[in-house]
Amino acid sequence: MNENIKLNILKADSQFEEKDFYIWCQDVILEIEEAWSCKDIDLLKSYETKELFIIHQEQLKNMVERHVQNIVKDIDVKKIDIVGYESKNDMDCIETHVELALIDYYQSLDSHEILQGSQIKKRSVKYRIVFVKDRNMVSNGFQTLRSLNVCPYCGAPIDLKKSNHCEYCQRDIHARQSCYKINELEILTLI
Ligand SMILES: [Zn+2]
Repeated sequence: MNENIKLNILKADSQFEEKDFYIWCQDVILEIEEAWSCKDIDLLKSYETKELFIIHQEQLKNMVERHVQNIVKDIDVKKIDIVGYESKNDMDCIETHVELALIDYYQSLDSHEILQGSQIKKRSVKYRIVFVKDRNMVSNGFQTLRSLNVCPYCGAPIDLKKSNHCEYCQRDIHARQSCYKINELEILTLI
């Protein structure tokens, strides 16, 4: 990340840690892709701004109507770069470029026949992702899934290497405690 961008981000968010952001980003991307494949609307909602969520909700609804499912899996996050920062409409916006390799295909919901893409061959995707936070919100940094050893809901000890399900309160744990949300997500290249 360029020093100028870094200074501007730190001015807006004194808790910003570049390394934590990248780890957090990676977790969020993996979880979003999973939510997308499973059509888990609630999970998607917790990482996206209302504007983006409405677009994704429409796309998912459209696929359901056409009896089509988009499966994305086996994701390798190759590279995450912060390429820009701006403050606009009372939002702090961090622009990133994210390179992934993943399995990405469409199948029929009824017959599971592959309609487009491959179940075997990975594709390379480069995304432009913009994360935003309300300017007035005080940042508390990026708590990542890996850093948790107690359940955020009930406080019971958990081992997330074994499971992301809390045995005690029976909740699934998605630990993205951050005030940043994804506001824009666009594919730059797809090979
Ligand atoms: Zn719990």
